Amino acid sequence: MAKVPDATITRLVRYLRALERMEEAGRVRTSSEELAQLTGVTAFQVRKDLAYFGSYGTRGVGYTVPVLRRELRQILGLGRKWRLIIVGMGRLGQALADYPGLSDEYELVAGFDVDPEVIGRTVGPVRVEPLDRLEEVVRDRHVEVGLLTVPEAQAQPVAERLARAGVRGILNFAPTVLNLPDKVAVENVDFMAGLSRLGFFMLNPKWREEMMG
Ligand code: NAD
Repeated sequence: MAKVPDATITRLVRYLRALERMEEAGRVRTSSEELAQLTGVTAFQVRKDLAYFGSYGTRGVGYTVPVLRRELRQILGLGRKWRLIIVGMGRLGQALADYPGLSDEYELVAGFDVDPEVIGRTVGPVRVEPLDRLEEVVRDRHVEVGLLTVPEAQAQPVAERLARAGVRGILNFAPTVLNLPDKVAVENVDFMAGLSRLGFFMLNPKWREEMMG
């Protein structure tokens, strides 16, 4: 497969959301034009993005909504119920653990912290464990993904520990760039960075189309 641009993956998530709404409405067929309109890109872009993964449409007929939805979910690794842990059960970690939508797609196995005030609490579906138990839980419960919500200064050492313990992916909420072996996939989430970007695009409206692309 050709190297897939990051922006393509971001757009696949948007196409999937549009397809889910169509399926809920009982729709069976769609087109690259309709998907483009619903997600704010061009039909050419939709076709190009999907072409990375093989051709799912039929010329003149378009796409079958449930088929394309299923394919996109598979490409994005959804429906596999990846097993997750959250490291850093402070304000953000607890809010994430308590989010009911998480369990639709993922299995939250445990939360970890170093603060004796927090350890032992039940948050959402999990009990907060001491950090000392991290390696044991990752191994015994076959944990694949770590959500990292520790203070910035702790992010790199804790991420290294997660990588050594065997997790395959880290969703990093700390505002720092992690340095890890290639075998670990890292995605960064940063709403403060999002606000900074928003400020730029509010001050420079003509660049907004680029942002949507
Ligand atoms: P917090 O202080 O409320 O929580 C941090 C928790 O991590 C605490 O419970 C603390 O005891 C624990 N902790 C400290 N060292 C640890 C370690 N080595 N191992 C395990 N747990 C440890 O902070 P918060 O407001 O929840 O923010 C957490 C992180 O998320 C920070 O890095 C913050 O900058 C970041 N953040 C990111 C976003 C975003 O959009 N990505 C939003 C808010 C906060």
